Order: sequence, then structure tokens, then C-alpha cells
Amino acid sequence: MIVGVVKETFPGERRVALVPDHLPALKKKGFEVIVESGAGADAGLLDSAYEAKGAKVLPTRGEVFEQADIIVQVRSYGANPEHGGSDLELMRKDQIVIGAAEPLSSPELVEQLAKTGVNSFGLEIIPRTTRAQAMDILSSMATVAGYKAVLWAAERLPRFFPMFMTAAGTVAPAKVFIVGAGVAGLQAIATAKRLGAVVSAYDVRPAVKEEVQSLGGKFVEMELDTAEGEGGYAKQMDEEFYRKQRELMLKVVAESDVVITTAAVPGRKAPILVTEEMVKGMAPGSVIVDLAAERGGNCELTKVDEVVVAHGVTIIGPSNVPSTVPFHASQMWSKNISNFLNNMLTKDKEKKFDLEQEDDIIAATWLTKGGQVVNESVKELLSKQGGQG
Ligand code: NAD
Repeated sequence: MIVGVVKETFPGERRVALVPDHLPALKKKGFEVIVESGAGADAGLLDSAYEAKGAKVLPTRGEVFEQADIIVQVRSYGANPEHGGSDLELMRKDQIVIGAAEPLSSPELVEQLAKTGVNSFGLEIIPRTTRAQAMDILSSMATVAGYKAVLWAAERLPRFFPMFMTAAGTVAPAKVFIVGAGVAGLQAIATAKRLGAVVSAYDVRPAVKEEVQSLGGKFVEMELDTAEGEGGYAKQMDEEFYRKQRELMLKVVAESDVVITTAAVPGRKAPILVTEEMVKGMAPGSVIVDLAAERGGNCELTKVDEVVVAHGVTIIGPSNVPSTVPFHASQMWSKNISNFLNNMLTKDKEKKFDLEQEDDIIAATWLTKGGQVVNESVKELLSKQGGQG
């Protein structure tokens, strides 16, 4: 099978779907790789590095689409609505397209993709199971985001993170509070600890308490119901729950130099957990990094892709955070994709490429096939919109 790597076209996107280091292992499994010239440049990966690992570099995107059996991307059409559409005319019937596709937020784009006849796969809807962990782009990208959020906070904070005992006096460590201890939150805890801060965290899922503690964080106890839903995710709670949570968080937020929010409920707008009132209670110079900014934000004052200063507090609402660490984010993405491709080989001795084999990961991520949308959740959303269904 020929795997084609194309340059990302989403504005500001610096990641690439496959990195040169992973090509020899793919070749051993029977995958040849072709690359659009310049595809890895923004992640520091030159065409020559791909060639050195056995890839063929082609000058145009069109040639990659023409020759590849499988196109791998970071953002395929659904996750790149403004610029991804021009790829549709390059796609061939039965070609395989793998990437992030935001199928549940833009089902109508999945329907358009279906019309090209491609077999497309959406990586964000991979099951959160142990077997799928090595292919889970949500986890790997959340790791990048949690790390970077801490660095941004440290950079903006007019204080040190660690404690210092110097001839010029003693410096108290910064107090960092992480709201939401999923993959991003846990990485934020670890990173803030490494920088020497005193870290506390809260999550509505009680199961994470031990994980927070094992990273050296303090789990903040709140008298709230637990909110664990299906698949280990947080479930949507009513407004009364969030009101009570905000009330309980008021004091912790006021005592923190840095608040990093990561609280998400899959498929929903992020809950508002840090109100303007709470921001007012923070000391001037404090920093909030809102990793839920793309999904509406956990802080009432967040503006996506802006740095807002309100009541002396800096509120950072970044989007596409993984793209700001393009080398390692690409390396992780590439490993996830390589594992995803290997999972498409039969599990017997023959190791034949076979999409039709029985496999829960292939089934769960398969979006379009033979001109139709095949994912049940996407079909349901489309039928609500009066589309295919
Ligand atoms: P996420 O990005 O959906 O949410 C981030 C965190 O915010 C979650 O921990 C969530 O509980 C928390 N949250 C939601 N509402 C909140 C609120 N009101 N207050 C405080 N916190 C709130 O989550 P994620 O990082 O993708 O992880 C979700 C689950 O999936 C976790 O149980 C994680 O361990 C699990 N997971 C499993 C696998 C796997 O087995 N393949 C991989 C990754 C994650």
C-alpha cells in the first residue's frame, strides 16, 4: 500500500501526519511512503530527511493524491473546513483518507466527503480503550496542550514558579490550580511540579484523585456529586451543579497565582467554571490559561486566540495548542497513525491489509464508504439536520 503524506493547509497548522523516523517500520509492514514536498518543513522535517528514510518526495499535492492508496493527514476536510475542500476533487473513489475530521461537530462535511467515494476515518472518535491507546490522538495532543499551557502561564506570571532561597531573600513557590485532571490536566500538573510550583487540582471524576496525588498534586475536595458518565468521561451536569461548583472553587481560585482549565464534556460546549467574579478575586498579575477556549471556554472572560487582561488578571485562550510544539506533536501523531495503519493489517500470520476485517477500532472510526456515511452517530446528526440519515 502506498501511503501519501500531504502538507497541512489549515491556517497556522505546523504539524505533519507522519515523521521520517517512523517510515522504516512502516516499510517493513508493507507500506511505501510518498510525501508532498515541504510537508514536514514547519515541524523542522525536511524533504531530505524523508528521503533518507526511504520516502519518495513529490513536487505537488495532486501527484500525492494520484499515487497514494492511503492519504494521511493531521486535519482532513472536517477539521479544515475552509481550506480542506479543495482536496475533494483530488480524491479517488475507494482511496483511504485518515485524519482528524471533527465528524460530530461538522457532519455535513462528512457527507460531502462521502460523495467522493473515499473510505474516510476520523481519528478523534477512536474508542478510549486500552487497545486503542497507542492510536489515540486525543490523548497525545492533550499531553502537548497540558505541557504548553504551563509554559505560557509561567512566561506571563510576574513571579517565579519554584521556591528560591537566595542571599536576596526567600521566594515562595507559585500556587497553580488545575481544573479538570484528564490527560491535559495531568500533564499540566506534572509540568508545573517540574517547574517547582505548589499544585492542586480538581475533577468531577473522583477516580482521578489518586492520579493527581501520584504526580505530587493536591486533590481539592469539594462537596459535589460525582459526574462520571459513559466511557470514563465527565457527563453533562445541570446549571445548579455548576453554580455550586463555582461557589466552592471561589476560594481556591482566589488563592492561586495560576489557574489552568481543561474541563470538557465531549460533544458539548465547555461549562463556565471561572466567572468574572472569581477573576476579580485573584491577585493582580495572576494568569488563567483556558485550554477549553476552542469549545467556548471554562472562563467567562476567555476570548479564543486572544490574551485578555481583566481586573489585572491575564486570561489566555489558545486554540490549536499542539501545533505550537510541532516537532513532538507530529512525532506523537505519526506514532498514533502508524499504529492505526498497522491495526488495519490482519491479525493472522499473513498480515494482509484488510479494512473489512472484524475490528472495533476500524469500525468505530470509519466515517464514509462507497459514497455513503457509515458512522451511526454522524448519520443520526445528519438525519436531525434533514440530510442523508
Ligand atoms: P476531556 O478532555 O474530555 O476532559 C478533561 C477533564 O475535564 C476530564 O478529566 C473531565 O472529567 C474534566 N471535567 C469535565 N467537567 C468538569 C467540571 N465541571 N469540573 C472539573 N473537571 C471537569 O477528558 P480526557 O482527558 O480526554 O479524558 C477522559 C477520560 O478518558 C479519562 O477517564 C481518561 O483517563 C480516559 N482516557 C482513556 C484512554 C484510553 O484508555 N485509551 C485514553 C485517554 C483518556
